[in-house]
Amino acid sequence: MSPTRRRFFQLGAGGAVASVLGFNVQKAYAASRELKIARTTETRSLCPYCSVACGVIIHTLGDNAKNVTPQVVHVEGDPDHPTNRGTLCPKGSSLFQDILNERRVLKPQVRRPGSDHWEDITWDQAYEEVARHIKKTRDETFVEKDAAGHTVNRCESIAWNGGCTDTNEFNYLAVKTMRSLGVTYLENQARV
Ligand code: SF4
Repeated sequence: MSPTRRRFFQLGAGGAVASVLGFNVQKAYAASRELKIARTTETRSLCPYCSVACGVIIHTLGDNAKNVTPQVVHVEGDPDHPTNRGTLCPKGSSLFQDILNERRVLKPQVRRPGSDHWEDITWDQAYEEVARHIKKTRDETFVEKDAAGHTVNRCESIAWNGGCTDTNEFNYLAVKTMRSLGVTYLENQARV
C-alpha cells in the first residue's frame, strides 16, 4: 500500500519509509531508549528554572561506590508529578545542560563594595560573612514599637526569598528562623 502524502508526514519520514519497506521501527526506538537509561539510578527532583516547579527524574550512572562520582546521563519529566505529569517546557528539557556545564558556579562568590569583579570565597567565609551582615543589619534597624507605640519586634531591613526547589521541610525551618529574627518579608518562588 502506498501512503498518501498526508499520511507520510503523519508517520514521519522514517516511519513512513519503514512502513513502505514493511518493518516497524518502533521496537528499535524503544530498544535504544531502554539502552540509554539502562542501569541508571533514578532521582526525583524539581526543575529550578521557574515557579511552576515541574517534577523531573534525573538518571545517573555509577555503581554507588564511595570513590565514584555518579554521572548524569539523562533528565526527563516525571510522569507521576501532579504539576507537569511528565511534560517539560524547552528550558526544563535542557536541564541536563544546566547540570553538566563547565560554566556552572560551584563555589560561593562575593562582589565587594566598589569592586568590579566577583571573588571566590570558601563556604566557611560565606557563612561567617552572611551571619555578620545579618547581625549588624538587624542590630541597626530592629523595630521594637511602631509609630502608635504598639510592640511589633520586627526587622524590616532583611528579606528572605526561597527557590522553587526548596522542600516543605526546608521552608518550614527557613520561616521559623526568619520569624525568630523578626523578618516579616518572606517570599518563595514556588507557587505550588
Ligand atoms: S520545565 Fe519549564 S515550566 Fe516547568 S519548572 Fe522548568 S522552566 Fe518552569
